[in-house]
Amino acid sequence: MRPEITKKRKALLEDIISLLEFYKALGFDRLPVKVRTGPSIHTEPLEKSRSKSQAMKAHKMRMLREEIGNCKRCKLSDTRKHIVFGEGNPHAELVFIGEAPGREEDIQGRPFVGDAGKLLTRLIEKLGLTRQDVYIANIIKCRPPMNRDPEADEIETCRGFLEKQIDIIEPKVIMSLGRIAAQTLTGNPKARITTIRGTFFDYKGIPLMPTFHPAYLIRNPKEKWLTWNDAQKVVEHIKRTD
Ligand code: URA
Repeated sequence: MRPEITKKRKALLEDIISLLEFYKALGFDRLPVKVRTGPSIHTEPLEKSRSKSQAMKAHKMRMLREEIGNCKRCKLSDTRKHIVFGEGNPHAELVFIGEAPGREEDIQGRPFVGDAGKLLTRLIEKLGLTRQDVYIANIIKCRPPMNRDPEADEIETCRGFLEKQIDIIEPKVIMSLGRIAAQTLTGNPKARITTIRGTFFDYKGIPLMPTFHPAYLIRNPKEKWLTWNDAQKVVEHIKRTD
């Protein structure tokens, strides 16, 4: 069998297993299927099937969090207080990806809740959204000691989980915040944020807009308008694809 067919079958099988687990979690001991009696094909109202797919995404996200468990896959587990999984809407149109949890995030187990987080929250709200409308995550899920840059082995160990989160959400756009997130998601370890920000890249078929990290903008407030411009392009893209 051709490898792409095997891959498609595997993905389909994983979806079926996930769906069955979802119904089991809801308390079903058999599948709630309708026996078709007539020739007409039963079609669900769009709203109903949309909310089912949203529940499915939330369920898949919970399963992924369970898969990560009390992760000890890299050395950051020795020093972190909490895993910062990511939070927000599992069917968001817009996903923000930062670098790594800082001190406050490590304490609370939530992404972007320190000073940089407050600035990010303000940006989100200026766009007419809330943190619950978008999804916020980081390249790695545990705080590096003294906020040093994440090391290559830590990024490699953790990135698969972020990739799965993005697969589940299927956002319309990703905004990466800062150099590390941009380099990781564009696959270019030499990318300079000052050069690449403001233009769309492709991340597995999803438009990716690199912009400055909010912590950088706190230090360089005069540059905030550039990130605002980048965010406008993102919003325009979302509107165009509505
Ligand atoms: N900086 C990041 O890159 N991520 C956070 O969650 C907080 C600060």
